[in-house]
Amino acid sequence: MRYFTALIIILIITLYGQEKQDKETMAKKVTKSESEWATCLMPDEYRVLREKGTEMAFTGKYFNHKDDGTYICAACDYELFSSNTKYDSGTGWPSFYAALDKDRVLEKTDNALGMIRTEILCARCESHLGHLFPDGPRPSGLRYCVNSISLDFKKAE
Ligand code: FE
Repeated sequence: MRYFTALIIILIITLYGQEKQDKETMAKKVTKSESEWATCLMPDEYRVLREKGTEMAFTGKYFNHKDDGTYICAACDYELFSSNTKYDSGTGWPSFYAALDKDRVLEKTDNALGMIRTEILCARCESHLGHLFPDGPRPSGLRYCVNSISLDFKKAE
């Protein structure tokens, strides 16, 4: 009987912990309706971040940006990439060989334009960032190809 009671208590604690964890994960997510996004983003930002558009190569503010700091999501300010992993890919878009943390960037198969590509999105607000390609430099061999307009920059102090 004592064993059974202990088991029930452990079960309750586990369930409570799980619920708390789920709530914390949900709290981190930023969810807005498309009309809310349309009012808080500039039209050019909305077209890329919410409608998965692509800015013209060599036109964005960060493709040739070399300051030390952190690149954050332009829609929700989530920290996404460090300047330490930024490199010159020659493509005209800001390119990184890794995300700040793998969990901060969602990957999704994208079949648009007759190509199979991997779309990358901000894990917190699910705004479109760009695409992930397997032709990056070592050590990862990955290229996170990101639209400048999907990013803001926080300079290192
Ligand atoms: Fe975001």
